[in-house]
Amino acid sequence: MKQGFPAAAHEALGDAQLRRNLWVATHTIRAKRAAVVAERADWEELREAGRTIKRRVLRHLDDYLLQFEQAVGRAGGRVHWARDAEEACRVVAELVRATGEREVVKVKSLTTDEIRLNDALAADGIDVVETDLAELICQLAGEGSSHILVPAIHKNRVEIRDLFRERLGLPDLSDEPRELAEAARLHLRERFLRARVAVSGANFAVAETGTVCVVESEGNGRFCTTLPDTLITVVGIEKLVPAPEDLEVFLQLLPRSSTGERMNPYTSLWTGVTPGDGPREFHVVLLDAGRTDVLADEVGRQTLACIRCSACLNVCPVYERTGGHAYGSVYPGPIGAILTPQLQGVDRAGTLPYASSLCGACYEVCPVKIDIPEVLVHLRGRVVAEAPPSRSERAAMRLLAWVFASERRYRLAQRLGRLGGRPFVRGGRIRRLPGLGAWTDSRDLRPVAGETFRDWWASR
Ligand code: SF4
Repeated sequence: MKQGFPAAAHEALGDAQLRRNLWVATHTIRAKRAAVVAERADWEELREAGRTIKRRVLRHLDDYLLQFEQAVGRAGGRVHWARDAEEACRVVAELVRATGEREVVKVKSLTTDEIRLNDALAADGIDVVETDLAELICQLAGEGSSHILVPAIHKNRVEIRDLFRERLGLPDLSDEPRELAEAARLHLRERFLRARVAVSGANFAVAETGTVCVVESEGNGRFCTTLPDTLITVVGIEKLVPAPEDLEVFLQLLPRSSTGERMNPYTSLWTGVTPGDGPREFHVVLLDAGRTDVLADEVGRQTLACIRCSACLNVCPVYERTGGHAYGSVYPGPIGAILTPQLQGVDRAGTLPYASSLCGACYEVCPVKIDIPEVLVHLRGRVVAEAPPSRSERAAMRLLAWVFASERRYRLAQRLGRLGGRPFVRGGRIRRLPGLGAWTDSRDLRPVAGETFRDWWASR
């Protein structure tokens, strides 16, 4: 993050329209989720099952990955391993170049956004057409996504109408949702029909069979995974599930937690290549990009269980006010606050673990029970441990240790604090202390009590 979360959030908070858009959108999805979750008496058992499966995957990830590679090969596909974003982009670009095509259609995929695949392909002279409506809006606006599930959540329909009028050359377009969707549909249909290569991400990848699964709401994913001759799927290594029956759990948890629906409108599953049906070439790029480092951290590794449902975003009081762009990453909200610092390093994204009130709402809604507050606190500890304390902080700590080491000095310090603090008390609180401006800017302190408990007890 160039700017850090506090500065970016401060900027976002000044945008009243953005806050209104976010409030309406997050509260609508939140209410839908609560209603469909309440329908399931076994919701807690489902969450527990989801967590258990993901824990097993993470415990035996090396075995499951090899099993997946063999299964994809048996089904006529090919697996490519990518250590980092650069390697993954290079593999995809080479695969596209080998087809002789210069345009690809793409299914919405956070993983490809994480590795900045569109930019890498553009630098190689390959055009990428985003086919998800919200991703298309962001692409036309030249903006990044601001929500995992609803990338254009920060825009209302008047803003989208103006964008389509300008970028799609439709001056008479109204802001009716039906008309906006139709304009996007016509724009995309032509691209689907001429595309020879598609790129997708994956919600799940099944180790036992080599099957890849994408869930979506618009049918664009189905077009991308069936019409082109070549399909390239980029998958983070944590997306594996052991067997097809495990999908039963996640395909119940995911739609209810994300869109507040009982099931996804489109669930596409494909296994390798089938002669005469669908793509003739199928490639999977398995991406690490920092994930094995996350796996090595005992507390942080639970982050890899995330199924990207976005429920934690929709209940987060911080996200609701700042929106996604303030997080400076494709992963916004509570999941972004724990995933980005682990993938990029706390030295680069060290302000994100503080983008939370630790209220715990994210943990309560997470369908795979990731203890987000626990990971946030753990990461804050790492930020502090990795940033060497300033000279004045070290001196202050030494002084405190010296004072606390003797009862006599401690009592004296209390007396001094009582007298010395008085000039700074305003309205019963210490608002600001000289030399501690940055710390007291966001905190009010109680003045030192008039008498200690021991003195009070002795005077009874
Ligand atoms: S952390 Fe949990 S609630 Fe948040 S996106 Fe991931 S799975 Fe969903």
